Amino acid sequence: MKKSNWVYLVGLSFVAFFVSWIGTGFLDIAQSAPLIELEQRPPKVWITAGEATDELLFTPPPREFLERAPQTANITVTYAGVWDPQAQTAFEYAVSIWETQITSSIEIKVIAEWANLGAGILGGAGAANSDKNFPNAPIANTRYPIALANKLAGTDRYTAPDNCDTSVTINGPDICASFNSAFSNWYFGTDGNPSGKYDFVSVVLHEIGHGLGFFGSMTTGSSCGGTGLGCWGYGFYTDPFVYDRFTENAAGTTLLSYPNNSTQLFAQLVSNGVYFDGPNANTANGNTRVSLYAPATWQPGSSANV
Ligand SMILES: [Zn+2]
Repeated sequence: MKKSNWVYLVGLSFVAFFVSWIGTGFLDIAQSAPLIELEQRPPKVWITAGEATDELLFTPPPREFLERAPQTANITVTYAGVWDPQAQTAFEYAVSIWETQITSSIEIKVIAEWANLGAGILGGAGAANSDKNFPNAPIANTRYPIALANKLAGTDRYTAPDNCDTSVTINGPDICASFNSAFSNWYFGTDGNPSGKYDFVSVVLHEIGHGLGFFGSMTTGSSCGGTGLGCWGYGFYTDPFVYDRFTENAAGTTLLSYPNNSTQLFAQLVSNGVYFDGPNANTANGNTRVSLYAPATWQPGSSANV
């Protein structure tokens, strides 16, 4: 979709996407399966300061949160870098919203870095790892972001020490997130009144969504074997990620029906016509599939995403 509409999606579709993947098949019967190592970390999905110009950059909390819905997930944050206490308070507030919107019996561990990310960047986040064919995996040969894999398996699948390329190391982080200390127009309040500044709570909400698993693994170029080629699995994994299984073109043809590492898939990815088509996402999007950002020039870290 148009990047300028991202705020709308945060409030509406992120939760629906996630719920649509989780379904109702939660089982807490742990089966023995080897724990996983880190092979290839899914890259972060970034958000830039220019993306939202026609909104006030504030995402209202969902109704359930405002009605004090119970906490159904435990998200813990380890902070890297020198954080402003106000920013941390805002971060924890965003986390508390997510904790009422998703359900998992497995702690979701975030490493959140405060760092100079350069001009124009607000932040980025991604899954710290991914897994496939774990106990209770809904779709075979499909990679799941690690927080979701843990939830579905009913066990913590990833426990290895990992620093998310920051200064702190924890056992088995699930989300790696970075926010820009060099950005000068943050609003750290939690009252939803940013007055033209960038509402940090909203940006954190958005990015945690990516970290929980709202990202595809499509990419283009050298990772796929050369210029003009498109592929899934970042060109590293031969299996797609679960998000990819919901992506399609304007005609409704699933992108996974095109050959991997192909010019045909590349053409789709830069077609300005890529959609996420899942039942719950569609319901939350006014009963229509969700348009994804797919400009004619591939944008690393944002194309084929929301
Ligand atoms: Zn995004």
